[in-house]
Amino acid sequence: MSITARHCLSKIFQPITATSKNSKITRQQVTSKSQRLMLELGIIQQSIPGCFHLLPLGVKSLDKLIKIIDNEMFKIGGQKVLFPTLTNSKLWNESGRLKEVGTELFQLQDRHNHHYILSPTHEEVASEMLSILAPLSYRNFPLKLYQISSKFRDEIKPRFGLMRGREFIMKDMYSFDTDIESAKKTYEEVCNSYENIFNTIGIGYAKVLGSSGSMGGSLSHEYQFKAPIGEDNVLYCSSCQYSANIEVCEDHQKCPNCGDEKNINIQCGIEVGHTFLLGDKYSKPLKSTFIAKDSKPEVLQMGSYGLGISRILAASVEVLSSETEMRWPSVLAPYNVIILPPKKGSAESLQTEGMPEKLYSNLEEKIPGLKNNILMDDRTSLTLGKRLLDAKRVGYQFTIIINKKSAEENPLFELIDIKNNKQLYLSKEALCDYIQQNFRI
Ligand SMILES: [Zn+2]
Repeated sequence: MSITARHCLSKIFQPITATSKNSKITRQQVTSKSQRLMLELGIIQQSIPGCFHLLPLGVKSLDKLIKIIDNEMFKIGGQKVLFPTLTNSKLWNESGRLKEVGTELFQLQDRHNHHYILSPTHEEVASEMLSILAPLSYRNFPLKLYQISSKFRDEIKPRFGLMRGREFIMKDMYSFDTDIESAKKTYEEVCNSYENIFNTIGIGYAKVLGSSGSMGGSLSHEYQFKAPIGEDNVLYCSSCQYSANIEVCEDHQKCPNCGDEKNINIQCGIEVGHTFLLGDKYSKPLKSTFIAKDSKPEVLQMGSYGLGISRILAASVEVLSSETEMRWPSVLAPYNVIILPPKKGSAESLQTEGMPEKLYSNLEEKIPGLKNNILMDDRTSLTLGKRLLDAKRVGYQFTIIINKKSAEENPLFELIDIKNNKQLYLSKEALCDYIQQNFRI
């Protein structure tokens, strides 16, 4: 008979510490609520300023986000690739970006005196790869390639933990089309897909007109989470529903679309995604061409689409958490349910022997979405009160406590639902039903 493996808290590396006691990080380096909570509750650990270790619970949440993105990309024909991070500087010279953004690039050279950069983005790399493969037929397009990998930026002042680091995880996609009309269609398609991703995450966001900045191109949108610590200022017009990063608004006093001055307001936002319709800005200098129907080579039309993966994680926690308790979007929480068995040696502990494990299996069987999403807090040398406090701080939506009432003839389980702010005593069946109805994955 096989034994079901259970996720047990005692086996998870989650160092819960006060940041003040952590010698690796100074108080000045803790610049946001999410960063402090994630450090204190063992989700991340700082290595050097702007670079963080993601610990097991952080990675579990990250994996969930990646799965959501992979599913959406699959629906629109996105194909996952992995480009090398180390990029020949020559490519960035050819696109003209080496001079333009040079100071923000991590540049290095090898023993043969060849120059490289640690890529923050891969427009040049993707374009060059296609140029080497040329001539590709028009039948190969549209092509949508994306990757999820670590990116680098020589950030002058890293801050807010995972939100503005020097090494971060990004999802970047590059689309290639045979003409600008179909490139625009692809652009719309990817934007819709990004909206699905943000709707699934469930944090209020705004899609606003963005600045193309050093990326170039003709059209750009940003996806912004509203948060006081956000470094972007976004103008919203309630007369015509226009919204844009104020970088693209000439006059910050009135709506660039309808001219209204009364119904505009400016709010802070955290940029979590950015899309660019690039045209031939990169494909032309890097010679990414295809063979058209008339057998002549033509330049490909590109789009570029970014999602800040580690940033989405931190920004979600930033938006949802209180100063003392971390909160996650349900679909990104490392675990959704935590079970607290009684303290070792207590009367209840003896009376409910085997019950926590059985409940764990029953929940997994009854609610398939809970597979690998239930955690057993088996640190039974600690009191229930102490473990409950930890569970609330880490932010598992459902905490099930096995106590005196669970040892009665008709066992009842205490359920705490932090999202709906409820504390209930339920039979096992009612407990399963309640979680099933209130659980989202
Ligand atoms: Zn307006």
